[in-house]
Amino acid sequence: MDRGLWRGGSGRAALEFCGPGRAGAAGRMGVRVKPASFAYHVAGSVPEAVALLGGLGDEAKILAGGLSLVPMMNFRLARPSALVDVTRIPGLSYLRADSDGLHIGALTTHRAIQTTTDPAVRRDFGVLPRAARWIGHYPIRARGTFGGSIAHADPASEWCLLAVLLGAQVVLQGPGGQRTVPAAEFLHGYYTTDAAPDEMITEVWFPRMSGRAVLTEFAQRAGDFAIVAAAVRADIADGTVRSADVVVGGVGPLPARIGTAGLAGQPAVPETWQAAGELAAAQVDPSSDNHGSAEYRKKLTATLVSRALAQAAGE
Ligand SMILES: Cc1cc2nc3c(=O)[nH]c(=O)nc-3n(C[C@H](O)[C@H](O)[C@H](O)COP(=O)(O)OP(=O)(O)OC[C@H]3O[C@@H](n4cnc5c(N)ncnc54)[C@H](O)[C@@H]3O)c2cc1C
Repeated sequence: MDRGLWRGGSGRAALEFCGPGRAGAAGRMGVRVKPASFAYHVAGSVPEAVALLGGLGDEAKILAGGLSLVPMMNFRLARPSALVDVTRIPGLSYLRADSDGLHIGALTTHRAIQTTTDPAVRRDFGVLPRAARWIGHYPIRARGTFGGSIAHADPASEWCLLAVLLGAQVVLQGPGGQRTVPAAEFLHGYYTTDAAPDEMITEVWFPRMSGRAVLTEFAQRAGDFAIVAAAVRADIADGTVRSADVVVGGVGPLPARIGTAGLAGQPAVPETWQAAGELAAAQVDPSSDNHGSAEYRKKLTATLVSRALAQAAGE
């Protein structure tokens, strides 16, 4: 790497990456890359990342695992003027279960969640390690981060679904300090969130839950994003549903919460799960695209919700 391309400033180093045939701001050819030109900064701490984002303006973006952002840059669907690489910030990769619930550091990889051996996480939040296997394939899970998935806000993302289902809180650090936003309010629509350009997600916190949660989905090929995914939580006692929550992904711009009030008091039997699946299908309004028609997505919704509830009931 040509060290001459490094530009200093307030102790922060930046590297210029130039799109094909483009010269960098200094007039030299920077490191030649596929995306449009951008400057590259490395943050050593959360305050430094926030300060960099504030100084670089609204076109700068955080770089975490890069698995969603870099392909979008390569296709020129995203053209950030600068990247702030947060992957070297220490202390943001953790899973911590305590009396409040489960705290997940923003830089925790999908793989770290999938393979956690923490008995408290496996006992009380086992749905997260179990759900991780649905995310992409091994290299994606080894590098992609929990915070990156929530920030990317794909409506079929497993973590977005579970965050909405279980009432998770997204913790953000910005120039004015820290704030916490419920996941359902944090997600605004396709790839848009409540995060300001100079804010960074540092943690997502899941409160304790009652009952058992399950996520299941259908994709055309293993490793693809789900065409439809269903996440459910069911609290069942003495063969009767005490309460249940259902969230469906892949049927609109946001994880869709299904009205489940009618499930309380119902017997925990296959007919109840089937009826709940049909009720969910009636409540979603998906569009057709080249992965499946609206009607197909509704059928998947009915099947997957019914299947997930049966699994949550231990069938
Ligand atoms: C082939 C393939 C298959 C995949 N399959 C799935 C799948 O089945 N399910 C699934 O959920 N995902 C899937 N993904 C996406 C993957 O999970 C990504 O890891 C994830 O979407 C983004 O995480 P990242 O760490 O790579 O973030 P990046 O790509 O680095 O960033 C994504 C966005 O989030 C922002 N961002 C990142 N971290 C933060 C932060 N801490 N605070 C604020 N903003 C931040 C970035 O600026 C950018 O806008 C797949 C990706 C690929 C390439």
